[in-house]
Amino acid sequence: MGEKAKKVTISSRRRFLTDFAYATGLGIMGGLLWAGYAEKAKSSPLTLRPPAALDEPDFLKTCIKCGLCAEACFNRPSNIDRDTGEPRPGTIKMARAQDDVTIGTPFFIPRDVPCYMCDDIPCVVACPTGALDLTKVTNPKTGELDYTMMDMGLAVVDQNSCIAFWGLQCDACYRACPLMDKALRLEYDKNERTGKHAFLKPVVDMHACTGCGLCEKACVTEKPAIRVLPREIALGKPGAHYVKGWDKKDQQRVKERVGKDVTTHDKRSAKNPMDYLNKGVEY
Ligand code: SF4
Ligand code: SF4
Repeated sequence: MGEKAKKVTISSRRRFLTDFAYATGLGIMGGLLWAGYAEKAKSSPLTLRPPAALDEPDFLKTCIKCGLCAEACFNRPSNIDRDTGEPRPGTIKMARAQDDVTIGTPFFIPRDVPCYMCDDIPCVVACPTGALDLTKVTNPKTGELDYTMMDMGLAVVDQNSCIAFWGLQCDACYRACPLMDKALRLEYDKNERTGKHAFLKPVVDMHACTGCGLCEKACVTEKPAIRVLPREIALGKPGAHYVKGWDKKDQQRVKERVGKDVTTHDKRSAKNPMDYLNKGVEY
């Protein structure tokens, strides 16, 4: 082998090793980046999904990230700015890397653009997989779409920052609510501090509120004093062993448990308690 050929071989080997190290380095870096990216790709628990979305785990399995809901929302005929004649931003956004939401999935931020609760609910109709489930917004008696059945979240009032709770007159959220006096009502209360004024406090009905966020958008405080949260976050959970004696659903639940064996079966429970309770005790 000549000197020239030797040099070529050495430099090719060197290049191969350099390329290999470079590629491996990139691979590791890519892996680390991807791991970070995948971690970031998890949705914040505060994420609000479009109307009639399945529960989050099922939603993530079913949504194919096609964006048809967002497109239908953007293209709805009512989404035109009256002054410019141009379409306004749609309610539904598709998550990008910088959003705190699983990438490519639809969500909305009420303070930016709330849901306008369209009668024909085009976003749900457009969904090809059922990730937005039509049956959730279809009245079972009439078979017709019913926007009052939407359930995107629940509005929660922060009584410390809501100026109506200070005694100032404000009903911005109340007036914005499409289900006024059902989802959001004003409760009158005497202002003991002044003795002559009344409080007009906004109160949300958890059953009627759809979580559209029109109230949050309308709220006049710097940070909204009324805010939509996912129901799992906004609501507590008492536990299955608490029963409301006056609630028919709870009564049914208790009836269904009667007849079921609710005893714990383990090694110790197979024995007679008398055999082990006083074990080791000497008289
Ligand atoms: S119902 Fe709400 S999210 Fe759906 S298209 Fe209308 S404004 Fe958009
Ligand atoms: S989110 Fe606000 S505006 Fe929408 S239904 Fe509930 S209380 Fe009314």
